[in-house]
Amino acid sequence: MLHPARLWKSQSGNKVQCRLCSHFCIIDENNHGNCGVRQNVDGQLMTRTYELVAALNVDPVEKKPLYHFLPGTKTFSMGTQGCNFGCTFCQNASLSQHPKTGREITGQKVTPEILVEAAIAHECDSISYTYSEPTVFFELMQDTARLAHAKGLQNIMVSNGFQSPECIEELTGLIDAANIDLKAFNDDFYRDICAGRLSPVLDNLRHLKRNGWWVEVTTLLIPDKNDSTEELKAMAAFIADELGKEVPWHISRFHPDYKMQNCPVTPMEDLQRARKTGTSAGLEYVYIGNVPGDDNTSTFCPDCHKELVKRFGFEMTNAGLAEGMCKYCGCEIDGVF
Ligand code: SF4
Repeated sequence: MLHPARLWKSQSGNKVQCRLCSHFCIIDENNHGNCGVRQNVDGQLMTRTYELVAALNVDPVEKKPLYHFLPGTKTFSMGTQGCNFGCTFCQNASLSQHPKTGREITGQKVTPEILVEAAIAHECDSISYTYSEPTVFFELMQDTARLAHAKGLQNIMVSNGFQSPECIEELTGLIDAANIDLKAFNDDFYRDICAGRLSPVLDNLRHLKRNGWWVEVTTLLIPDKNDSTEELKAMAAFIADELGKEVPWHISRFHPDYKMQNCPVTPMEDLQRARKTGTSAGLEYVYIGNVPGDDNTSTFCPDCHKELVKRFGFEMTNAGLAEGMCKYCGCEIDGVF
């Protein structure tokens, strides 16, 4: 099922350049770009994923993870197959990497109208574009997000942050909140393990914050790959100094997956070390993910340090937060409440 793509330019020899993400693929006639999703058909760029949703669920917004954006609400979550990265540790590879195998892209046929109506019927406050990489289903995301806004819903993007500047520009004003992966703080990791690059991700994070998106950052901590104290310090300093101390940082535990089966689970002491690095850099909200129990996922007041929100898995109890303020000292808590 092919649909006209947006954000591309014609090139000589019936080639096209896709300008959706920072790969800027030049695609020969009848070939695909790196993601396997966008195809040059007779000199026209087409997308293979419009209206073909491969995952659809009602999730707690905390699952994205977003802890400071409409906490306690439900988000209607959708994703198609496909990704512009090729992370060897991908925890969703059957979805994200499928189009690169050359096999047919599959999914449930939907329209933006069906998605928005379903979100409303399930009493969701938002729609999340998630599971694989929403950049590669940009057209469906853009059309759905426009309609969602018109119906009073918010839009959330969960992404690797590798969009082109044009793509980010088009989404600004449509997407209200984003969780962006900062997978490492070295370009070799991005190139060798993810088939991406670091600098476009950093540029996009700066741009999103400057342009008023609510942003939370996630890092999957992988033993011996991105967990040195030096790298964590640089990452925490970037978030605190260039994005803002109020940006929540989710440090997530790695479990062996896809092509990284021989790497161990992240030890708890390394997750705690990363969390301490974040708080030492001045970050006010640092969380540990994929680890049930204790206070790793609680929100504490940055002023009086009392526990405001306690989370159990994706459930939460809110004892200390009222209309975005700490009930104990009146400090304003950052986020959209
Ligand atoms: S979305 Fe990115 S990877 Fe896919 S064709 Fe366009 S530039 Fe290439």
